[in-house]
Amino acid sequence: MWRPRGTKSTVRIYDKSSSPTSLFHCSSFKDVPELCNEEDKPTQPTRVVVYFTSLRVVRPTFEDCRAVRSILRGFRVSIDERDLSMDSGFLTELQQILGQSQGKVTLPRVFIGGRYVGGAEEIKQLHEIGELKKLVEGLPPAEPGVCDACGGYRFILCDECHGSHKLFVEKSGFKSCTACNENGLIRCPSCSSAPL
Ligand SMILES: [Zn+2]
Ligand SMILES: [Zn+2]
Repeated sequence: MWRPRGTKSTVRIYDKSSSPTSLFHCSSFKDVPELCNEEDKPTQPTRVVVYFTSLRVVRPTFEDCRAVRSILRGFRVSIDERDLSMDSGFLTELQQILGQSQGKVTLPRVFIGGRYVGGAEEIKQLHEIGELKKLVEGLPPAEPGVCDACGGYRFILCDECHGSHKLFVEKSGFKSCTACNENGLIRCPSCSSAPL
């Protein structure tokens, strides 16, 4: 209640004078129709990306992740599975995509062709009504066999620190290795892809 709400005319002036590239608060709303029309312009590589956890700490979450992965694997299309328990960088990535800077992100989260599809409930529902099949239609098939470089783990041991995530520096002693994640792992260069 700082200002009276009778100043709409000034807002309109801003609307007319602003260039299309200007960054206003409303830019987030502009993104919505663009996301909806993504089918028209195939700029994103079409693939399935699943953010999940392989930790059994939270049982329902673990079960949801397993169920969703097995549903998706049933279609035999190429799936980029991103295990948050392997790399906390995936959590940051996911929070950025969903626009949630804080709070817990529920897992799993599924993206198909660069579009957010949903979590466990959505995937199960779409699968039941046959819609999921349509979404993955035309996607590249799953690679036969497992990746030679990482054995299907999608991560390899860091060369710099040999997986210890620590480096010994003559003068200052041990410091964290900057080449790898908190587990001393780096994403497999042969089979891991860039963020969405
Ligand atoms: Zn690999
Ligand atoms: Zn390292």
